[in-house]
Amino acid sequence: MKFTPEKYSIVDERTKPFIDSDEIWNYLKTSIPTKEKVREIITKSLSKKRLNLEEVACLINADSPELVEEIKEGSRTLKQNIYGNRIVLFAPLYIGNKCSNNCTYCGFRASNSAAVRKTLSDEEIVKEVEALEENGQKRLILVYGEHDLYNPEYIAHTVRVAYSVKKNHGEIRRVNINAAPLDIEGFRIVKEAGIGTYQVFQETYHSEAYKTYHLRGKKTDFNYRLTALDRAQEAGLDDVGIGVLFGLYDWRFEVMGLVRHTNHLEACYNVGPHTISFPRIKDASMSEFGDKYSVNDDDFTKLIAILRLAVPYTGMILTAREPATLRNEIIQFGVSQIDGGTKIELGSYADKNRSEKNLNRGQFRINDDRSLNEIINELMEQEMLPSFCTACYRLGRTGEHFMEFSVPGFIKRYCSPNAILTFAEYLIDYAPAATASKGWKVIEKNIEALETEKLKESVRNKLTLLKSGERDLYY
Ligand code: SAM
Ligand code: SF4
Repeated sequence: MKFTPEKYSIVDERTKPFIDSDEIWNYLKTSIPTKEKVREIITKSLSKKRLNLEEVACLINADSPELVEEIKEGSRTLKQNIYGNRIVLFAPLYIGNKCSNNCTYCGFRASNSAAVRKTLSDEEIVKEVEALEENGQKRLILVYGEHDLYNPEYIAHTVRVAYSVKKNHGEIRRVNINAAPLDIEGFRIVKEAGIGTYQVFQETYHSEAYKTYHLRGKKTDFNYRLTALDRAQEAGLDDVGIGVLFGLYDWRFEVMGLVRHTNHLEACYNVGPHTISFPRIKDASMSEFGDKYSVNDDDFTKLIAILRLAVPYTGMILTAREPATLRNEIIQFGVSQIDGGTKIELGSYADKNRSEKNLNRGQFRINDDRSLNEIINELMEQEMLPSFCTACYRLGRTGEHFMEFSVPGFIKRYCSPNAILTFAEYLIDYAPAATASKGWKVIEKNIEALETEKLKESVRNKLTLLKSGERDLYY
């Protein structure tokens, strides 16, 4: 199908496709990574300046072990300096796996006759959310196949159902979405339901490669997908997430594509993506998938470090597609959000007997099946502070990642105290005794690291209120 902006009811330069593969390859072919240049670029990023495409290409091309180590070290420093030690936790909730598309890599694709199709009923959604709340989750991302059933009204309905569930002290305070691209009106409808971030992954930014993986249905239209988040912006939904499915095309090109997309959103709307995701392809039911473009662990780590340096203000998400050991390592290079206690088989949070090993019900196989509590324990061992914070979004402080990055003292004034308070709620309401005893020490240490005595006292007062039964206290 040919892209015509009129079809999507806006005639605007901004909605024109903005990826030029020749331009990207040209940068990659011509950028020469001398030591001096690579170091200059890392220094530029550490001074909180966004990198341009040429600079990103230079980091990508730097492949001597010494320079790769410097890139990783740079991203580690940037994360420490800007974001500190918080890691935000969330869980995915798969709502329905019906799908009219045929993405060759995905277990939900229409041609996969082995897939057991299911859409959760409202009652089942309630049960799933209750189980997630009982686990301690406060932030969800709802995930849907692309199907007429999952229209904007339906998505908005499921979001409202998720928000309505309150079990004991449990509640979901932020519902994000990962679903197919919508038209402008569709984005308005889901925005009204109070969603946080709307994620759409381009999968690959290379239009020719894209064609070979997307064989049927609406998703065959590369440009409609590419311009999805422009329509979201037109609808007033400015909290958007971009991503690439690594393994479909050359990772170097894809990193450039993500940065180009970021530039586009910044240039047109003055706001970049809230989050960047970088899933790698994992086993999916009956998928016959080549490994020509598979990304090894070293390149994966390097590309995450480069993305951190390239777009220092954006949230970066690493999911349970990756194994625990690798996640623990990569977290240091700038990741700000991870999922915990993840189950992707439909209905499996409430029904504990469902086996994650049954690939016919899930979209792909996850590689980190640690419980939320196990993940929290490991984060604490790594000196990280687990956070369930949703304050900015609920106070209308949109673009919080940008504020964290650009407003001096923002993290110390808001993010760290809010991480402490939401982690304390977890310890009071859900943590086993051993986690709680470790957790309170972590909290004490993080209170001591707060900047002023006044803030320390204020956080301690709020902790006392939480211990006496109040909830949802934030700055
Ligand atoms: N159906 C919607 C779409 O395609 O945008 C949203 C949901 S889809 C279930 C979410 C994401 O899962 C896709 O965008 C893709 O990047 C990722 N995904 C699909 N198959 C995968 C696989 N085998 N391994 C890892 N990630 C996969
Ligand atoms: Fe459907 Fe999304 Fe899977 Fe493609 S990636 S088959 S659109 S669920």
